[in-house]
Amino acid sequence: MKKVIIIGAGLAGSYLATQLPQNYDITIITKASAQDSNSMLAQGGIAASLDPGDNPASHEADTLAAGQHRNKVAAVDQLVHEGPKLIQTLIKQGMPFDHQANGALDFGLEGAHSHHRILHAKGDRTGLALTTFVQSQIEHVHWQENTTAVELLVKNGTCYGVRVRHDPTGTFKTLTADAVVLATGGLGNLFPLTTNDATITGDGIAIAARAGAKMADMAFMQFHPTLLSLHGKCFGLISEAVRGAGAILVDENNTPIMAAVPKKDLAPRDVVARHLTWWRAAGHQTFLDISAIPDFPKRFPGITANLDRHHVPFRTTNRIPIQPGAHFMMGGVQADLAAQTSIKRLFAIGEVACNGVHGANRLASNSLLDCLVSAEEATKVIAALEPAVTPALPQDPTTIVPPKLPSLADLRQAAWHNLGVERTKAQLHDFHTWLAQFNYRDLVPTQLSPKDFTIANLCLCAELIDTAALKEPKSIGAHYIKEVAHESTAS
Ligand SMILES: Cc1cc2nc3c(=O)[nH]c(=O)nc-3n(C[C@H](O)[C@H](O)[C@H](O)COP(=O)(O)OP(=O)(O)OC[C@H]3O[C@@H](n4cnc5c(N)ncnc54)[C@H](O)[C@@H]3O)c2cc1C
Repeated sequence: MKKVIIIGAGLAGSYLATQLPQNYDITIITKASAQDSNSMLAQGGIAASLDPGDNPASHEADTLAAGQHRNKVAAVDQLVHEGPKLIQTLIKQGMPFDHQANGALDFGLEGAHSHHRILHAKGDRTGLALTTFVQSQIEHVHWQENTTAVELLVKNGTCYGVRVRHDPTGTFKTLTADAVVLATGGLGNLFPLTTNDATITGDGIAIAARAGAKMADMAFMQFHPTLLSLHGKCFGLISEAVRGAGAILVDENNTPIMAAVPKKDLAPRDVVARHLTWWRAAGHQTFLDISAIPDFPKRFPGITANLDRHHVPFRTTNRIPIQPGAHFMMGGVQADLAAQTSIKRLFAIGEVACNGVHGANRLASNSLLDCLVSAEEATKVIAALEPAVTPALPQDPTTIVPPKLPSLADLRQAAWHNLGVERTKAQLHDFHTWLAQFNYRDLVPTQLSPKDFTIANLCLCAELIDTAALKEPKSIGAHYIKEVAHESTAS
C-alpha cells in the first residue's frame, strides 16, 4: 500500500488528501488543529474565469501583468485552464459558493483583475467555507494534529520520511513514506504585522532548505495594503474585495490616496502598499472609506464581526483604520508543474511551493486556486511512483549544540525594517551581517524547544529572502529597492 505523508492541513494539503486514491495509507500531520491555517482565514475568494463573458486568456493576462511577467507561463497556463475545471467539480460535489438572487454564481472583483471572476462563499468567509467543505470530503486519512514536522529524512537526494514532534508530550518520532508532501504554507510570522495564522512560521521552507532543496523567488514577499490597524498593531485583514465593492483609501483629511495612480484603489498590491507606506511616512493616518458600500455588514459579515470585536465605530465614521502588513510569499521551495521539488519523493504544493505561477507579485485570489491545481497535479506523479526502499537513515548528532538566536521580537522588527515594503541594498547587507552572528544553520531541530525551532526557521527564511533580494538587480513587483528606479507595476 502506497504511503503518503502530507505536512499541513490547509487547502492544499486537505485537497490533496481528497484526490489521492482511497487505498493509499495517507497521514496528515499538522502543527495545531485541522482548523488552524491561512486557508481558513481567506476572505475574498477564489479566482476562476467561469463567468460567460470571461475566459482563461484574460485571467492569464492579468496574472502575468500582476506578476510583472516573472511568472512561469506554463504554470499560469495550467492554473487558468485546470483551476476552473476543479472548481466546477467542487460545485457539483456541493461546495456552496455564493449566488446572486437570479441563481447565477456571484463573481466579485478584486485589484488588477479585468473581470468580475472571484467566487466567494459565506460572503467574506470563503476560506473557511471552502477548506471546511474539502475537509468534509476526506476519508481514510490518519490525522496527526498538534504534531510538528521538524526535519526531512533525506539520503542521496531522496526523501524517505520526516521526523515529527508530538507537541503535547515533546516526544519525537520518525515516519517513513513513499512520498512526502510539504503543504505548510508561507512565512508571514517573520514580520510583526501580518495577516497570517500563528502557525505559519516558514517551517516547510526551512526544513526543505536544511535538507538541501532548491528555493526560488524568495525575494518576493507580498505586503497586503489593508490590515486592520489599531494602536500600531494589526488585527486581521480587510479584504481587497472591500475596495472591489467601492471603498477607497483616504487619509485623516479624507484625501483620496490613490487618486492619481493608474487603476487607483485597485492597482496591484505592491503599488498600493508602497503608496500607503509613503503616505504614512509623511505623518498621515490611513483609512478605508467605506461610504460607497451601504450594505457593508451584510456583504462582509466576517470583517464586520472582527471590527465589532475590536470596537471599531465604522458604522458611524464609515472609516476603517488600516496599514500594510506581510501577507503572502510568492517564492518558496522550487517545484515543477507537478509539484516535484529538487529532492526526489519530496513534493511541495500551495503557498510553501514556488512553481513560478505568481511571478514577482501574486494576483489576488489566485493562491486558493493554486492550492487546488498544484495538489491535483501532484497526485498524478505520486501515483506513478515506485514503492520506496528505505535505506538506513542518518541519525541526529548526539553532541548538543546550544542555540544562539535573537529574540522573536527583535528578529521580526529587523525583518520589517530591512525586508519590508521598501528595501535598500545597504540595509540588506547590514541585515545579512546581523543574521550571521546567530547559529540557526548549525542547530539540530530535535534538540530545540518549540520556540527556538520557530526562531531558527524564521532566521533561515529571513536569510533566504535577504540573499535573494540582494541578487535581484532591480526593483520588480513586490521587491522594491529604494535606490533603483522602479519599473512601473501600475500599468
Ligand atoms: C487573512 C488571509 C486572507 C487571504 N485571502 C485570500 C483570498 O481571498 N484568496 C486567495 O486566493 N488567497 C487568500 N489568502 C492566501 C491563501 O489563504 C493562502 O495562500 C493559502 O490558503 C495557503 O494554503 P496552504 O494550504 O498552502 O497553506 P495554509 O493554509 O497556510 O496551511 C498550512 C498548514 O501547515 C501547517 N504547518 C505549518 N508548519 C507545519 C509543521 N512544521 N508541521 C506540521 N504542520 C505545519 C499549518 O498549521 C497549516 O495547517 C489569504 C491569506 C490570509 C492570511
